[in-house]
Amino acid sequence: MDDRFSYYRIVLQLVLTEVQRQFLFKEATDKKPNESCALLFGKKENDKLIVRDVFLAENVEESPVNFTISNEQLILGYKEAEEKGLDVIGIFHSHPSSDPYPSATDKKFMEINPVAWVIFSDITKSFKAYMFESKVIEIPIIR
Ligand SMILES: [Zn+2]
Repeated sequence: MDDRFSYYRIVLQLVLTEVQRQFLFKEATDKKPNESCALLFGKKENDKLIVRDVFLAENVEESPVNFTISNEQLILGYKEAEEKGLDVIGIFHSHPSSDPYPSATDKKFMEINPVAWVIFSDITKSFKAYMFESKVIEIPIIR
């Protein structure tokens, strides 16, 4: 694997509107002290992953440091995305008490879920996005 090649191959940006940010911020706040989670529906257009809809999911772990979306909710989410003519382009979750960087558990699951991972940190009040492409890389979020 040529590292320079994989570096230049990644030119993706994630588009998250102000309204979507506020919606996810509210969900993260409502679910404190636990992590909140959601599926992000949208489309990939050229080099942009454009979020069009947010599907709120339950964190069945009810944990402040981990999240799990049940298989039932995943099936429901993928079905709803399909009905809306959209793809599941991302997974959102919040970090109520840590920075917006993937935990060791997040990284493990990122490897098997090759979508954008959007993390909101209640510490920094900021959103960050990542993808796994032979390693975890950050992708810029634009409005
Ligand atoms: Zn996490």
